[in-house]
Amino acid sequence: MRRPMRTWVYLFGINALVVCVGFLLLIAVSLSVLEHAIELQTLRNLRTFSHSVRELITARPPRAAAGETLDSFIKLLASHDPYFRITLIAADGTVLGESDTNRLNLENHFTRPEVKAALLGQEGYDFRRSSIDGRMVVYYAVPLTLSDSYAALRLSMPLASNVLFSTNLRQQSVIAAILILCVILTLSFAAAQRISKPLAELRNAAFRYRTGEFTYRPKIESPYEFAELAADLNRMALTIQDNIEDISYRRDYFESVFAHTAEALIVFTRGLQILEVNRAACRLFDTGARKADRSLISLVRSTEIIDFVQAHIADPAEEHGAELEITIQGADGAEHHLLARCSAITPENERRHFLLMLTDVTRLTQLEQIRKDFVANVSHELKTPVTSIKGFIETLLDGALSDEETARRFLTITDEQTARLSNIIDDLLSLSQLEQRGAAIRTQRVSVRAVFAQIMRLCLPEAQAKQTELSLSFLSARGAPLDGDIELYLNEGLFIQAAANIIGNAVKYCPSGARVDIGVQQTPPHGIMLRVEDNGPGIPAEYRTRIFERFFRVDKGRSRETGGTGLGLSIVRHIAELHGGSVQALARRDGSAGACFELYIPGNRMEPDAR
Ligand code: ADP
Repeated sequence: MRRPMRTWVYLFGINALVVCVGFLLLIAVSLSVLEHAIELQTLRNLRTFSHSVRELITARPPRAAAGETLDSFIKLLASHDPYFRITLIAADGTVLGESDTNRLNLENHFTRPEVKAALLGQEGYDFRRSSIDGRMVVYYAVPLTLSDSYAALRLSMPLASNVLFSTNLRQQSVIAAILILCVILTLSFAAAQRISKPLAELRNAAFRYRTGEFTYRPKIESPYEFAELAADLNRMALTIQDNIEDISYRRDYFESVFAHTAEALIVFTRGLQILEVNRAACRLFDTGARKADRSLISLVRSTEIIDFVQAHIADPAEEHGAELEITIQGADGAEHHLLARCSAITPENERRHFLLMLTDVTRLTQLEQIRKDFVANVSHELKTPVTSIKGFIETLLDGALSDEETARRFLTITDEQTARLSNIIDDLLSLSQLEQRGAAIRTQRVSVRAVFAQIMRLCLPEAQAKQTELSLSFLSARGAPLDGDIELYLNEGLFIQAAANIIGNAVKYCPSGARVDIGVQQTPPHGIMLRVEDNGPGIPAEYRTRIFERFFRVDKGRSRETGGTGLGLSIVRHIAELHGGSVQALARRDGSAGACFELYIPGNRMEPDAR
């Protein structure tokens, strides 16, 4: 391919060509005009001289006595100027006198135009090359009367004899012209450079903008149009920079939103080729590669999802996308209940893109199930005592009232069932209040010994009734008996409720004459661990976590017998969590039969307002 010409070469070349041609033309025209003027001037001079010489010859003819002939006289007249030639021609064309050469060697001059005119009585002239030396010569002839016969007096002069026609002058003119041309071309070169330099700077700026360097500012002060162009380029770069920053910000913003959205998002083509996958989708399907250049089929591995997506691609009727609820086995091995939504995110064409959004509703489904179970459990728990109360009241109304002993027995049972109902409702209210508090409880600094004095007062009557021995001990962090007190932050009322529940359970589920060890141990930095161990039936290992669920009982009949609601440990767990602590059921540490509960309270100051 032909390499394009550089601007300065182009400008300089055209300039040089135009200047050279113009200059040469100017010189040619000037020289031609000058030559013409010189010819005219020479002609005028020759005319004047011709007249003067004619006057001279007529006034003072050659003296034959002194040996003068016309030829020698003419040679004498022209002897002072080597360029000047005088020729005298007779009427028949014979040369009578000649200043420059031997007249006898000259041919007949009758045919010469100027001579012809002079012999006819007129003045004539001619420009032609000399027959003697070939130079360009101006001839001028006037008529002359010689001894009654007509003759022609001709003066001639070579044009080169004029000072303006000398070789020297021409040489000097050419040298001067070349010098002037050189100066003009140098100036033209400088001018071309002045134009091409800002152009190069503009090109440099454009190159930098192309490579993303929008902070570059071309500095051009002249020529005006280039300076304006540079200023416009600056403004354009600023606008582009602003736009790019804006677009980058938006892109990062949307990428961040896309990446951090909890829903699994997958963007794919009509051919199910994945374009974008967010973190949630990678977690769900366990793929390390975020920008997966793979197909949707290999990522989701669920025919249900693929069928759903393909149906939507084939018939994207719903404007806001189609929905499907499915259950899949996630990468973590667990079952995930998903709500899948598929929608087109670009206009209808061959390159249409789609978005598959998978919302994990597993937890919601579980919560919904818990809520349903809870309602069923509550209904069931309430129904038993209510049915029992109703039954006894009906029996009483049907006549049992008259039998005082039966009536008393029935009323006692009704009273117990009412107490049970009341317990369930109290515990439900308690739970509901704890749940409503959320994480907001107020703690105060308390003496642990004083708090346990209260707890023991609460639990002792029942323990004594069952001849259960309660032993309370305070231990240091290292497990040694502690003489002093422990002070920590807790919500006194809630803690007493939790501790009394655990100790009460131990008393409740152990047979008479059992022993319950209550240990309160310091746990650095501020907390305590309440450990309650009994030697009762204990809790089978598989139920040790489930007993903290609402209404869960290991032995339903036994629990009801003892007036249990199945909500006590659930309340304990809530209280522990509200304090930032925990509760767990374990086997006894010494391996013997019986239950062991550990309630840990960190003892930090907690202000609901500070949270
Ligand atoms: P309940 O009102 O039935 O006592 P809880 O939530 O307090 O309800 O206890 C849940 C279940 O845990 C009880 O029904 C009982 O089966 C079991 N449980 C709790 N504490 C003990 C214990 N110390 N020994 C044996 N079983 C216990």
